[in-house]
Amino acid sequence: MVKVSRVEQNSIAEELGILPGTELLTVNGRPLSDFLDWEFLTADEELTIEARQPDGEEVIYELERLDGEPLGLSLQPPTVRRCANRCEFCFIEGLPPGLRKPLYIRDDDYRLSFAYGNFATLSNVKERDIERILEYRLSPLYVSVHATNHEARKVLLNNQRVPDIKAQLARLAAGGIQFHCQMVVVPGLNDGEVLEESLTDLWKMGDAVLSAAVVPVGLTQFSHLYTGKRMDRETARAILEQVEHWGKRALRERGETWVFGSDELYMLAERELPNAEHYGEFAQIENGVGAVTSLRMRVAAGLERITRRDGQRIGVVTGLAMAPLMEPLLARLREVSGANFELIVAENSLFGPTITTAGLLVGRDIMGALNGRHDLDIALIPAETINEDSVFLDDFTLDAVRAALPMPIFPSYDFIDVLASEAAGVAA
Ligand code: SF4
Repeated sequence: MVKVSRVEQNSIAEELGILPGTELLTVNGRPLSDFLDWEFLTADEELTIEARQPDGEEVIYELERLDGEPLGLSLQPPTVRRCANRCEFCFIEGLPPGLRKPLYIRDDDYRLSFAYGNFATLSNVKERDIERILEYRLSPLYVSVHATNHEARKVLLNNQRVPDIKAQLARLAAGGIQFHCQMVVVPGLNDGEVLEESLTDLWKMGDAVLSAAVVPVGLTQFSHLYTGKRMDRETARAILEQVEHWGKRALRERGETWVFGSDELYMLAERELPNAEHYGEFAQIENGVGAVTSLRMRVAAGLERITRRDGQRIGVVTGLAMAPLMEPLLARLREVSGANFELIVAENSLFGPTITTAGLLVGRDIMGALNGRHDLDIALIPAETINEDSVFLDDFTLDAVRAALPMPIFPSYDFIDVLASEAAGVAA
């Protein structure tokens, strides 16, 4: 059963009399267990839908709709499948106490992997799930492989009962499913030979593996489970060498880089980030692979849209990791806009100083960094620091942060989104 959360006005669903709270039970005789069933079973043109209205009345809707015509309803969010692993490096385990509850959910859900690109380990999928993936052709999936070596993977996921990922991927690949894979690398556990084995195995799967990302383990001061080594510059360099070796081979043989080090890996290795061609279609940008290069591209492409702001004083808040990369971008923005940009580096008070990512700064950090700065006309903060409800990880709202600071605050993804907008207050 799936439940309706919203019905659009003048939609087919409204015409039928479907209401928020209506339980959808079957489509063409097949029971619905989640949004995937609904999505795929309603792809037919002729539909018989069994439902239960909020007052308990059971109804049957029969309808025929033209190809692609939306039914006009939204479903309540699914119950997320929980993770059965206990990775020492788990970021959720490294969260500080006291945050809002949903942030602590350790999801490991192939459905969300397909629908939203969340990475899943596939360690909790059952035979029925495999059959669904194949039947509904849930492709591509985003898979946390970490290591194809079964023994190494058991250690990494801290789960003795984990299925063999090679066998799982092979079975799904035989059914036409493709994957974007990631390896979170823990020094001493899945770098070196284990990483080589993983890349070799994934490479042998041919077109089924669309891309592979290699990401360094990310720890906070709260990562209490972690007993492994920390990632240092030399280890990051060795991993990158391996990755780039495979990348060159892939470019020769497949015409694309295929395997990528994450931006953070390059930064830890103190290596210059590759240019845009390296990343092709930026398949794993949401995973921090090519995000900095993409930002540079967007800034370069948007410069001509920036309005003149001569003499305006603009504060740009960022985390420690991005600071050295920001200066050249701000220099270009300064040239084109005539404004004075000041880079303001904030430390992460919630996760501790080891977390230097701009997107994880919290409301308190922004306020601390900009407090009393009456000399600034506006300030830009990383847009990734707030969620869709404009709330920071520490529960401060954007409105509260704005109210506490003396200058207008603008969340920004790439500077251009704010600087090209008249609404963002052009200085007189
Ligand atoms: S798979 Fe590992 S890292 Fe991912 S949520 Fe589960 S325990 Fe955390």
